[in-house]
Amino acid sequence: MELEQSCIFCKIVRQEVPAKRIAETENVLAFFDINPAAPTHILLIPKLHIASGNDLNLAHGPLLAEMILLATDLAKQQQIDGTGFRLVLNTGPAAGQSVDHIHLHLLGGREMGWPPG
Ligand code: 5GP
Ligand code: ZN
Repeated sequence: MELEQSCIFCKIVRQEVPAKRIAETENVLAFFDINPAAPTHILLIPKLHIASGNDLNLAHGPLLAEMILLATDLAKQQQIDGTGFRLVLNTGPAAGQSVDHIHLHLLGGREMGWPPG
């Protein structure tokens, strides 16, 4: 599919674009964000292309559980579980989604404001 051919995160999955990978499961890949917004900033993506949160349905439940549980495992591994961390799924332009392949941000290692900007 054209979209998946050109999608930057699909290219990372296919190793056509380099990324600092940290973990993977059967369906999920985790790598460090190229422009970190916190001392720990990891992205978790499904290996198969899903454009945005608007495309999710109940059938994605196990995949989403895999993403969240891998994120919480990585939070422990990165030792930000005690101080706290944030999982963010920006969906759509007003929320700041800039890559049209769903990605869960794992952010931690600093104090964070609420509400987010
Ligand atoms: P969004 O704004 O869509 O929620 O988040 C996209 C994130 O992907 C940003 O934090 C941005 O720094 C990161 N990003 C964009 N392109 C690349 C890339 O090629 N490699 C990596 N590792 N991160 C990327
Ligand atoms: Zn993609």
